[in-house]
Amino acid sequence: QSKPQARVDGSTGVTFNDVAGIDEAVEELQELVRYLKNPELFDKMGIKPPHGVLLEGPPGCGKTLVAKAIAGEAGVPFYQMAGSEFVEVLVGVGSARIRDLFKRAKVNKPSVVFIDEIDALATRRQGIFSESTNHLYNAATQERETTLNQLLIELDGFDTGKGVIFLGATNRMDLLDPALLRPGRFDRKYKRRMDKAQTARGREHRQARGQAGGCSGAGGRRGSGQAGARVKAGRVWRNCMALQAERASEIRIRPPRAKGRLDILKVHARNVKLSPTVDLSCYAQNLPGWSGAKLAQLMQEAALVAVRNKHESVLQSDMDEAVDRLTIGPKRVGIELG
Ligand code: ATP
Repeated sequence: QSKPQARVDGSTGVTFNDVAGIDEAVEELQELVRYLKNPELFDKMGIKPPHGVLLEGPPGCGKTLVAKAIAGEAGVPFYQMAGSEFVEVLVGVGSARIRDLFKRAKVNKPSVVFIDEIDALATRRQGIFSESTNHLYNAATQERETTLNQLLIELDGFDTGKGVIFLGATNRMDLLDPALLRPGRFDRKYKRRMDKAQTARGREHRQARGQAGGCSGAGGRRGSGQAGARVKAGRVWRNCMALQAERASEIRIRPPRAKGRLDILKVHARNVKLSPTVDLSCYAQNLPGWSGAKLAQLMQEAALVAVRNKHESVLQSDMDEAVDRLTIGPKRVGIELG
């Protein structure tokens, strides 16, 4: 069985300077860089290490780029695999790959593990199968569940692998299995449910106090009977919820707006010789819906057009032609120009 290996980048060479238009996400992710630069400090200060982050957003908006930038900023190895590389028919192969991936990352910690298209590996269980496809469904489902479980085990075991950060990326959060999603949504759910739990706990305390003839604090909690048991169960439940809350969180990478598009164009204009007469803000305004990837492509295309037109730098007319080529296609541009 050939074994896809994680692509490892000793140093990605990408930094937050290469990322534009998603400042909020970058701001939130700075925490991970601080941690990766000095995991021991977090440990010494008694701060729980950050676990995983799910990056959600449309294609080409910089999920992979920002993941690489985290590793690049911290100067740590970057282990990258696609979710589809874990999808196997043979039971146990996918989970073995997950184990292997995290094992290698732990050996070289601090490090970043990045799984792109994580939906391929962690799709929501369907629960629909017919008689004829029963055995196929079961084999595939069993394999997928084993792989997903292994991922959850690795994420839960991060305390033992301190210094490893997990990043997953998806365009389809709605497809993800709730087992993986739960922690991400958890901050909000956790708060709400905590409030309920606290109310219940308060009620139980009051009941316990009443039953125990007004004893307070530890005495009340120690009071025998159902109230005490419920309080204990509540505590266990909350601890369990807290554990899950720490497993992962979600960060949404949104498509860039006009200002973001301008910043992205500026980042990619650094690599081309651009005439000072080109007004990038005009393109940023007039290209709504263009992703970071498409804007990067625009600058590359404009440079190619400039070379073809024998210009010494990229002119506004080259930019216009590049926009046309990317929107209506080179053939049609050729016909129209020809
Ligand atoms: P997919 O969901 O298809 O995997 P993605 O969100 O991971 O897409 P990236 O692979 O990070 O997208 O982006 C592709 C390329 O587009 C990047 O290498 C970069 O050149 C450019 N790009 C995308 N977003 C940005 C951004 N926010 N700032 C600067 N460049 C960007």
